[in-house]
Amino acid sequence: MTRSVFRFVPLTIRTDEASEALWAAFCEASGCGWESGPAATAEAADMGALRHAGATGHRRFRRTVTGWADVTG
Ligand SMILES: [Zn+2]
Repeated sequence: MTRSVFRFVPLTIRTDEASEALWAAFCEASGCGWESGPAATAEAADMGALRHAGATGHRRFRRTVTGWADVTG
């Protein structure tokens, strides 16, 4: 039998308000693989998706937004 001792430390996580969020769009058409790359605004990622849709006829995209957080404690 293995015995373990755990130490619990109170931690807090907060959004890093000083960091800019990054947006991205990804084409979901089978075998395509197109992605916008990181963009500073949702509109910039959307414009890339619209251009890709116009050029290829692909119509479904996954969109992400990435933010940062800091843990203290
Ligand atoms: Zn595509």
